[in-house]
Amino acid sequence: MHQTLIAREDLERRVTELAADIDRDYQDCENLLCIGVLKGSVFFMVDLLKQLQVPLAVDFFQTASYGSDTEPGEVRIRKDLDLAVRGKHVLLIEDIVDTGFTLRTILDLLKFRGAASVKLCALLDKPSRRQIDVPIDYRGFAIEDKFVIGYGLDYDERYRNLPYIAVLEE
Ligand code: 5GP
Repeated sequence: MHQTLIAREDLERRVTELAADIDRDYQDCENLLCIGVLKGSVFFMVDLLKQLQVPLAVDFFQTASYGSDTEPGEVRIRKDLDLAVRGKHVLLIEDIVDTGFTLRTILDLLKFRGAASVKLCALLDKPSRRQIDVPIDYRGFAIEDKFVIGYGLDYDERYRNLPYIAVLEE
């Protein structure tokens, strides 16, 4: 058994709080585009977006990195967006911010494509691992430097369907 780090009820409660914050901040926004980073963010994103009242569109990126854990990886776009970003208010939704390389690349790309604004919502944050500064506008939980699984996060494509976050047993 993997050790539970964040229980299902705590995830649900925090997602509801984040949704309330996002709804309040975007209440007058008419062109909100919520972008998920595949595949890890999907479980979180669905739960979050179902609780939003503000009108929104949904799209996805998929990335892959050529880099190692410690070197600045060259981030590759494996699946690009279907929708145009120009003039949209973008909310980028991520499962976890680790070194920050992936997100920095995506945030820069969205700005380059002419997004009216870009904000970041991340369920988990490992601040001790950060190598590139990325501002997290909506953060679920800060966690220690442990490899976590569940609620979308995998180890070798397994465990995404766990309804809680757990620390991977070695
Ligand atoms: P970054 O570019 O911030 O280093 O990488 C972020 C990505 O690394 C996340 O989207 C996720 O795919 C992966 N990642 C980082 N830490 C973990 C972890 O503890 N567990 C899992 N399953 N993936 C992680």
